[in-house]
Amino acid sequence: MAKLDEKIDGMYQEVLKRNPGETEFHQAVLEVLESLGPVVVKNPQYLERKIIERICEPERQIIFRVPWQDDKGKVQINRGFRVEFNSSLGPYKGGLRFHPSVYLGIIKFLGFEQCFKNSLTGLPIGGGKGGSDFDPKGKTDDEVMRFCQSFMTELYRHIGEHTDVPAGDIGVGGREIGYMFGQYKRITNRYEPGVLTGKGLTWGGSLVRTEATGYGATFFVNEMLKARKDSFDGKICTVSGSGNVAIYTIEKITQLGGKCVACSDSNGVIYDEKGLDLALIKQLKEVERRRIEDYTKTHKHAKYIAKGNIWDIPCQVAMPSATQNEINGKDAATLVKNGCIAVGEGANMPTTPEGVKVFLDAKIAYGPGKAANAGGVATSALEMQQNAGRDSWTFEFTEKKLEDIMVNIHNNCFETAEEYGAPGNYVLGANICGFIKIANAMVAHGLV
Ligand code: GLU
Repeated sequence: MAKLDEKIDGMYQEVLKRNPGETEFHQAVLEVLESLGPVVVKNPQYLERKIIERICEPERQIIFRVPWQDDKGKVQINRGFRVEFNSSLGPYKGGLRFHPSVYLGIIKFLGFEQCFKNSLTGLPIGGGKGGSDFDPKGKTDDEVMRFCQSFMTELYRHIGEHTDVPAGDIGVGGREIGYMFGQYKRITNRYEPGVLTGKGLTWGGSLVRTEATGYGATFFVNEMLKARKDSFDGKICTVSGSGNVAIYTIEKITQLGGKCVACSDSNGVIYDEKGLDLALIKQLKEVERRRIEDYTKTHKHAKYIAKGNIWDIPCQVAMPSATQNEINGKDAATLVKNGCIAVGEGANMPTTPEGVKVFLDAKIAYGPGKAANAGGVATSALEMQQNAGRDSWTFEFTEKKLEDIMVNIHNNCFETAEEYGAPGNYVLGANICGFIKIANAMVAHGLV
């Protein structure tokens, strides 16, 4: 672990004290603060104006009760969150996560990361995140609908096109966004597409939004490889997860000439030496909402490894696209030992601090989530642009914009890392580059 500058260490101790027990939030803050020593030396006004302390404190945190009835008529209670972290660059923007592990610390880590990620996109969006400890797994469509309606019955008063614009994350996709949009429209009596992103294509959604996080992460890795005079061509790749991010990562890797041999879900790993059959994965996960294990029902040659560890499978490119802290120090060491040369994070904070250190020490191409997976939220911002202009763009046009944004993020992180004397360190590049833009806007806005 890099040593924190003395003044910054004081700020970190304060974060620990003010936010007890929120370990993921502590981890996300520490990772950014470790990069900021040289920035405050160059810009002492950030210290005078307490920019770092202010960035670590969300502007607003909303916690609410979400009561709903299951199909048996039984009353269920969940907890809802929306953390509006930073609005210096635009309205709060970030997804909603529905997962039983959700508590304030998870939403705060995601909201904190989102601020820097959104800043890196170069688009006018601030940072926020929300969600619930509701578990959509095993629930019927009707139950999900009733939950979403109850969730929005509180959330609607806090959001808006110019205030806060939620979207999807783990457990929240097109179906959930649809139910929430319907309830928002009903309560407010206003058809306001700009209030949520990730909408359906016939009612204000953007082409490429579904694909954007996975495509964007793959474009980012492609740029890291290009910077090393390499490419995806013929590379063996593994992609953890099998949700939206994983599926479109596999699709883009394949289009760029790579071969994905493994993916996973929380129960186990699929290993298909011939290359994953993406059409089947889409059918299982997107249409039928089944477990990945069923892949082997039709593809007998493939292996299902119950409770397996996907990082034990040798690969040249690894793209963690499941959830936080899914690669620990040991996994990272295994990947490097097995010849992995690039890691691109489709998930948010999927690598533990020990794992990050292994990748940085090995000097492999390591693209941290807040840079590599920014394509999802960037395309949400493109959706907002289309909504504001009552327009809808073609797939090709929108995908090209996404690719340009990812190339730009890559180059900015790459150049910032060089400027600060750490060539090839995209962690440092992303943290500094994302921070400076927010910090300058905060200085300009005065003490608010
Ligand atoms: N949940 C996604 C993320 O982690 C996307 C958020 C959005 O589109 O607002 O960036």
